Amino acid sequence: MSILYFNPVTGDLEGLPEQMKILLDSSTITQEEKQKNPEAVYQALKYMQDPKFSLKTAKYMTQAEEGDYDELPPPRPVEGPIFPLSTIRESKEFKRASGIETLGSPPPPPIPKRPERTKSIYTKAVEDEDTTDYISPKESAPPNTTPEAVSKALLKAQTIKKLRQIVSVGDPVKKFALQKKIGQGASGAVFTAIDQTTGDSVAIKQMVLAKQPRPELILNEILVMQGSKHLNIVNYLDSYLVAEELWVVMEYLAGGSLTDVVTETCMQEGQIAAICREVLQGLQFLHERSIIHRDIKSDNILLGMNGEIKITDFGFCAQLSPEKTKRTTMVGTPYWMAPEVVRRRQYGPKVDIWSLGIMAIEMLDGEPPYMNEDPLRALYLIANNGKPEIKERDKLSTYFQDFLDQCLEVDINARPSAGKLLQHPFLRLAHPLPSLRAVIEATKQSLAVKEKQGFR
Ligand code: ATP
Repeated sequence: MSILYFNPVTGDLEGLPEQMKILLDSSTITQEEKQKNPEAVYQALKYMQDPKFSLKTAKYMTQAEEGDYDELPPPRPVEGPIFPLSTIRESKEFKRASGIETLGSPPPPPIPKRPERTKSIYTKAVEDEDTTDYISPKESAPPNTTPEAVSKALLKAQTIKKLRQIVSVGDPVKKFALQKKIGQGASGAVFTAIDQTTGDSVAIKQMVLAKQPRPELILNEILVMQGSKHLNIVNYLDSYLVAEELWVVMEYLAGGSLTDVVTETCMQEGQIAAICREVLQGLQFLHERSIIHRDIKSDNILLGMNGEIKITDFGFCAQLSPEKTKRTTMVGTPYWMAPEVVRRRQYGPKVDIWSLGIMAIEMLDGEPPYMNEDPLRALYLIANNGKPEIKERDKLSTYFQDFLDQCLEVDINARPSAGKLLQHPFLRLAHPLPSLRAVIEATKQSLAVKEKQGFR
């Protein structure tokens, strides 16, 4: 890294390995950016190229000395109707897809639901040793295989053994009447079902164990969900092994994901405040138990029809311990990652606060900052720019501006904890939760129209 420098003659970064050069050439990172912050370019390349290759630049964080919000004036009373219907967002995709922007041109292709680039990623830790949060292989390696392959195979076998120990005995096919498929994730499909004994609706995620590249993430998810009963966390109910398939039974949230709401409607500050407050309550609960979620984004927030707001997707969680109070694994989804994660610094629960700030921007703009950039340049921009620019900032209340500033504070010591942020005056603007039903219904209507028109 010490030999990395910008060569003004060639306009390139010198000292990069060949593979990184090729990757950089194919990115949209400009010459000016390479010159301005070669280290941020290098960090982004390192993640994109090989997660195991990392800078040994761990920097320990200190506990924040937290201020309070007394300097801010009391919140204004909520203006306008208390239960306003959200206006449907005329998203770029919708305008394009519905022909508003392309009058006279041939009909556009169907819109993908959410770009591939919003997918979560999981790399290895800087010290290359915290790939699992609850389990690690202990047995010795058999011959004729690479140590890494052996270790992976052992971990997989151990994970499946452990999963067999924690699942319930019995046949879920008799207990639940499967209804319809409501989603498809990387690890499996999600169905609604009726619990035949209670008549309750549930969601069941079905995963073929043999097809899971990292079954330990699923075990991690079940263990965290089992131990995290909270109003703002999707409630885990049970799990079963059906032949080689793992069924995870959860409470069903009929309102869908927050992503649908942010992409289909224009949200008001009171609605955003309500969602931020609920998510913060869930985060406070997790952080008090030394759990970092590490993948907070609208896709991982599910809504109930009565305005319930719940965090889901716990596969990427890290359980901190007195021996290991910080992490370095680059985990999450690039656009939502905190600068300290991108820079491979040691990090703690406050990465979730940064991601919440990015999610608040999603609620304003329909997408996170840099979404039009390729992930490599987005990582560069997070590392280089720190706090992203807030579009039309002046149109926001001072409380909301301050709330965003606090979440998106680059200095970890100055970024407040979940508990501290829960006292922020912006949250006092929150609309009552049942009023969110109107936004959810507007979202469903908008999606139904698109579906009918063949745009989804
Ligand atoms: P993976 O975790 O496998 O990478 P993913 O995070 O993309 O996948 P899943 O958790 O598999 O997504 O969920 C797929 C979809 O199913 C989600 O987008 C969500 O809309 C829906 N879904 C998941 N769980 C529930 C639930 N408990 N209630 C209602 N809908 C759900």
